[in-house]
Amino acid sequence: MANVYFDNNATTALDSRVLESMLPWLSSQSGNPTSRHVYGRSARDAVEHARVQVAEACGAYSSQVVFTANGTEANNFAIKGMAGNLPSAQILTSAIEHPCVTRPALMMQQFGYSSKPIAVDSSGKLSLENLQQQLTLPTSLVSVMLANNETGVIQEVAIVAELARAVGAFIHTDAVQGLGKIPLSFTDLNVHAMTVSSHKIHGPQGAAALILDKRVDIQPLLHGGGQEKGLRSGTENVAAIVGFGVACELAVANRIHYASHTQLLRDQFEQGLVDIGSIKSSVMIFGNKVARLPNTSFFAMNGIEGETLVMALDRKGYAVASGSACSSDSTEPSNVLLAMGIDKDLARGAVRVSFDATNTPAQVNDFLVTLNNEVKRLKELTAIAA
Ligand code: PLP
Repeated sequence: MANVYFDNNATTALDSRVLESMLPWLSSQSGNPTSRHVYGRSARDAVEHARVQVAEACGAYSSQVVFTANGTEANNFAIKGMAGNLPSAQILTSAIEHPCVTRPALMMQQFGYSSKPIAVDSSGKLSLENLQQQLTLPTSLVSVMLANNETGVIQEVAIVAELARAVGAFIHTDAVQGLGKIPLSFTDLNVHAMTVSSHKIHGPQGAAALILDKRVDIQPLLHGGGQEKGLRSGTENVAAIVGFGVACELAVANRIHYASHTQLLRDQFEQGLVDIGSIKSSVMIFGNKVARLPNTSFFAMNGIEGETLVMALDRKGYAVASGSACSSDSTEPSNVLLAMGIDKDLARGAVRVSFDATNTPAQVNDFLVTLNNEVKRLKELTAIAA
């Protein structure tokens, strides 16, 4: 049986060099960065070194990096923290955001903010017209992701930032899926806040960051000992932060190879997908007409449940996702596809394959054979049941 991981938008394997950098901080080096003694000082130095590595990968200054435990926390911090210090006008989030952006925005309704989605078109691209229309009403905050975790579709965040700034609104982008995959610059995007997360780039789970314009007045989510300049209290996860820093350095060094290699695999896969006789007539690939992440393919086949196909492929040793991994316990069709106007039944068939630089063309070839067989088998089963 195969043992192949094609779910790299959900999480990635820890790089052995990252693990090596973390080990001392999980064993002999046990200082708390706030302690004044030598153990504390060396832990502080390690965290500050990682801050520089993360900043460099994000086109930001190290003073703009606030470490958090994960991307979910950084997004919650951005939405609740920034909006909370602004007049209670509307919060606009794209209709395809991750739930850790949309739910905090909805939660702010209890404090008098209204939360509204910005429409996307059938390819998954944000409607700038719809945004402009909505910005005619008083707006405190706009949040638009850089790249979607399901379709991989890339948004024009710098333009969104310009439009938001023109009406005095703050702008946040969730760049969790962008880091390491496409060029990323906090400065060029011209946003007030940007989220990145370690475990999507072969770093450990347990570290992420909100990159923050220092002029933004933001309320902390966590109050306590005043770590991270009072913006995120709680003892730093030194080992995870050190690993995140190294993962950032590696991601920057590998990005060009990553992009060309994963795009080759993705193109090979999508070509094979449409060539497979049994599924030729019924396959739909989402977002493939616009700029998207090089590693991501999101597709559906009429008449085949995504969940069923994912489980069948898992039994053959292939790890892929149906819809977003973060909401895979729900059987509802992907809200991203529904926002794109995709029919509910077709959306239920959605499967995401997300490659990585460690995957090979041979793996993709074998996967296509297995996929073809499984689709054929499932179609036959459906025909018998009908
Ligand atoms: N934003 C996007 C676009 C994501 O894909 C994810 C995770 O899948 C998150 C945020 C949440 O990040 P984390 O898993 O670090 O909490």
